[in-house]
Amino acid sequence: MSKTYSRDEVARHSSPKDLWVVIDGKVYDLTEFAEDHPGSAVVLWKVAGQDATEQFFAFHRQEILFKYKRLCIGSIEGQQSLLQPASFGSMSTVPYAESLSAIQRPSPFYNESHLAFKKAIRAFCDEHIQPDCELYGNSGKVPDKEIFLKMGEANLLALRIAPGKHLKGLKLPGGIKPEEYDYFHESIIHEEFSRCGIYGYGEGLGSGMVIGLPPIMAFGPAWMQQKVVPEILSGRKLVCLAITEPTAGSDVAGLTTQAVKTPCGKFYIVNGVKKWITNGTFCDYFTTAVKTGDGRYDMTVLLIERGQGVSTETIKTSGSTSAGTAYVTFENVKVPVENVIGKEGRGFEVVMSNFNHERWIMCAAACSAARQVIEECFKWATQRKVFGKALIEQPVIRYKLGEMIAELESAQSWTDMTTYQMTKMSYAEQNKKLAGQIALLKYRCTRMVHLVADNSVQIFGGRAITRTGMGRIIENFNRVHKFGAILGGSEEIMLDLGVRQAMKFYPKNARL
Ligand SMILES: Cc1cc2nc3c(=O)[nH]c(=O)nc-3n(C[C@H](O)[C@H](O)[C@H](O)COP(=O)(O)OP(=O)(O)OC[C@H]3O[C@@H](n4cnc5c(N)ncnc54)[C@H](O)[C@@H]3O)c2cc1C
Repeated sequence: MSKTYSRDEVARHSSPKDLWVVIDGKVYDLTEFAEDHPGSAVVLWKVAGQDATEQFFAFHRQEILFKYKRLCIGSIEGQQSLLQPASFGSMSTVPYAESLSAIQRPSPFYNESHLAFKKAIRAFCDEHIQPDCELYGNSGKVPDKEIFLKMGEANLLALRIAPGKHLKGLKLPGGIKPEEYDYFHESIIHEEFSRCGIYGYGEGLGSGMVIGLPPIMAFGPAWMQQKVVPEILSGRKLVCLAITEPTAGSDVAGLTTQAVKTPCGKFYIVNGVKKWITNGTFCDYFTTAVKTGDGRYDMTVLLIERGQGVSTETIKTSGSTSAGTAYVTFENVKVPVENVIGKEGRGFEVVMSNFNHERWIMCAAACSAARQVIEECFKWATQRKVFGKALIEQPVIRYKLGEMIAELESAQSWTDMTTYQMTKMSYAEQNKKLAGQIALLKYRCTRMVHLVADNSVQIFGGRAITRTGMGRIIENFNRVHKFGAILGGSEEIMLDLGVRQAMKFYPKNARL
């Protein structure tokens, strides 16, 4: 049992040469540490021999306490400490910090299996992903290969693709049966992966696979299903989606990378460049859209393996280079004709087939990331004291929090309703009936994120624009929150698509 002390005894250790403090009911001997304290020894001298809990939480996140637990020499007699290191998979009890399913309010959509699944995925992320993210996310190192293998082993890579026959016979986290797995489970896994707090690192965890593998699974020939799909789902190989070019972003049909058949008809020779390809710097395969004719939509999708003639360079975006965002050059790359995904000349169909699913994933991830920011803001507003009281006691701050919550929960509700509709439709039906709705939903979510980002800065003040410390999650969120408004179809394109799709269903006899 650890030693206990009275407050009087702590008070006797109140000089620079003998410096004890109390934080959250625990006694720390900071005598040796004071000179190494990043905020200077002086600030520690001021609280020597005292309870410094309030001062500590004005400047530090709680993980600092756990990091320096070696300095803890005991506890105050009769006082329980409030903080414990969170166990793997634990859920937050801060209001609105978890989606409604997680706090077990009645829900028409979520059941016990979703909650069990959420806990299991969070436990995996807490144990295997978070430590690597915190160590390397800011320096831009790409996630360790070991993490991909672990994700493969736990079948998480397969789960991030969608419900489907590829899950048959797999052992799933949380004791979920493969036949039970639905789009709500899938939305949960995307939510959990977006919680790591460093967006680029999260993208580095296989976002390229999430968009690059489905075309192979849906349209690839048998040999790809037998060789490439298992390689990727096990984490042994990585894939990305290479469509965008410097001249072709929103206008996908404007691409110029060309594939020309060799006279023997057995190969294509590919020449061209691709831009902003997520995970491109470290992936093994590129699901690549190329031009195979002169017509605007004369497009084919090829699986190109990294090898001779393929080179990748890092593009430094506002996010962490852990995402592996790449400029890809194909120079006289020889690709066997067996590598066609779908049919030659029908690539546009292949490219378009997965956009709705990608955009829906972005909605789930946006809600989750915003939720994490709201939790940070709630905690900060409660512990930060200004003008003699906690920030949360200022009506203006409560208004800002209320605005964020209302926006988030509206976006979450529409996302959940859309997810429900997806569970009732085939993939083809989803693409026909939900393309416009998902485009508008994505716009709704990225606008929500705007407001959350903006308000969060005003709640955190200077710390929101400081990369380390209390505001690090807010700073990262504000640096990267625009990504969702551009990637996978920009806000302008989404609104336009939403209305154009609605027009398809417009009744001929509708009149004022
Ligand atoms: C970090 C990052 C990662 C990415 N990852 C991938 C990836 O893995 N694979 C991949 O293939 N691509 C990827 N992309 C590309 C991404 O999908 C495109 O950036 C996006 O589609 C927009 O294209 P663009 O940037 O060329 O903008 P442009 O098409 O040049 O558009 C510029 C602006 O004009 C607006 N605009 C364009 N057309 C219209 C119109 N008709 N009406 C009104 N406004 C319009 C757009 O909204 C946009 O804001 C990534 C991009 C980034 C930045």
